[in-house]
Amino acid sequence: MYLVNDQSCSWVNDLDKRSNIKILEKNKSCDWLIIGAGYTGLSAARKLSELHPNQKIIIIDAQLAGEGASSRNSGYLVDTTLNDGFTSNKELDNYKKKADIYDLGINAVKKFINEYQVDCDWNECGKYFASSKKEDEKILRNFSVTLSKLGYEHNLLLNNQLLKRLGTNFYNIALHTKGGILLHPGKLVRAMVDVLPKNVCLYENSSLLSWNKNKDVISCELKNCKINTKKIIFATNGFLKSLGIKSNYNFPITLTASMTRALTDEEFRSIGQPKEWGVLPVRPMGATIRMTKDRRILIRNTAEVHNPFKMSKLDLQKRSINQKIGIKKRFPQLPDDIIQSSWSGVVSRTRNSSQIFEKIDNNIFVAGCYNGSGIGVGTLFGEQIAIKASEENTKEIETIEARNKPTWLPPQPFLNLGIKTRLIYERLRARSEI
Ligand SMILES: Cc1cc2nc3c(=O)[nH]c(=O)nc-3n(C[C@H](O)[C@H](O)[C@H](O)COP(=O)(O)OP(=O)(O)OC[C@H]3O[C@@H](n4cnc5c(N)ncnc54)[C@H](O)[C@@H]3O)c2cc1C
Repeated sequence: MYLVNDQSCSWVNDLDKRSNIKILEKNKSCDWLIIGAGYTGLSAARKLSELHPNQKIIIIDAQLAGEGASSRNSGYLVDTTLNDGFTSNKELDNYKKKADIYDLGINAVKKFINEYQVDCDWNECGKYFASSKKEDEKILRNFSVTLSKLGYEHNLLLNNQLLKRLGTNFYNIALHTKGGILLHPGKLVRAMVDVLPKNVCLYENSSLLSWNKNKDVISCELKNCKINTKKIIFATNGFLKSLGIKSNYNFPITLTASMTRALTDEEFRSIGQPKEWGVLPVRPMGATIRMTKDRRILIRNTAEVHNPFKMSKLDLQKRSINQKIGIKKRFPQLPDDIIQSSWSGVVSRTRNSSQIFEKIDNNIFVAGCYNGSGIGVGTLFGEQIAIKASEENTKEIETIEARNKPTWLPPQPFLNLGIKTRLIYERLRARSEI
């Protein structure tokens, strides 16, 4: 099955159209093959090129490079997350391990944008975990204890303060963390495409259909041709399972989001002219909502088991209606028809929220499964899996490998049944926050 994305993601449509697109049509052989050109694959390619300037490196993508989830996300480069809900001391240790990885992820992106002077609307404005429900104060106070123990600066805010900062009185309680960055995800990943070094060949609209390993050669079948490679890195995230990679440990989840046009001066005044901000939900299935620096409102409020290869226009429209309602609830004064675009994207999840970073066989490596937080961690894992595959070690690899390993998942149909039931339950719990 081929991957077909909608063409309606505002982040992608903000960028110039690319013209240097190469499709693979002839058989090739190489030293290194990377499957998937999002943050992970592109970062792996960049690092491999630095480590092996004289070796042949190929990276392929089923669609245009970077235009999958890496361009379609909400643009939160996170230092901390709430929804894993760790509280006790033992769990605090797990939380710290995860936060250490986020920290390395932020550093990896920072280093990249400094080195290549990338403009991706970087804003170190922190983020809010907010809820309309006063009773969620208890969750936020527990979270505050965890953050304090780990030394993360944060503060609790109430309705009136939130109205001033966000321009909506929808939220009753929020915890603002000072760390965390908002950025333009499309600009970031496009920069990673643009700076690919000369000894990396990128082929796009070139889908890997199947692969097998025979002694020291890994043979990969594409539509009209084949690539033989010595080493391979799988960086297809939400599509790892469909390629049979770690299939008992990860599963795809489809998300949809919508973005408004830029608010007019009058509309912007009507909501109090807030500075750029980003809100994450306190309850796992609540809406992520963000005001961009150019006065657009982004909302993501769905997560579901769906065919990861394609979402029909009709299905997307249905989800867009939900997003319109989500915006209206928060900003009733804004007109009904300001959504400019809606899109879907696929992420990968594990059962215990741990990421995948490993050698799965001789010369075969995989990095992915960021459980919805892949901007920083994807960039980090891409670079570090390239180093690991080159048989070198770093402090970063030690930190990554100190995390818990992903836990085993039941087979189908039990898996989908279990996920769907959990998502319905979480959606019900979060219904006021959608
Ligand atoms: C709506 C939405 C909101 C999100 N919000 C955030 C957020 O705010 N912050 C955050 O950190 N993360 C967020 N994420 C998650 C984040 O986007 C991902 O974790 C990140 O993009 C993972 O990067 P990646 O390179 O591993 O995978 P992708 O970006 O998914 O790249 C994988 C690539 O593999 C390609 N591919 C798939 N199958 C094949 C094949 N058979 N052959 C060749 N190529 C193939 C795909 O075309 C794709 O380009 C969000 C995701 C979505 C969808």
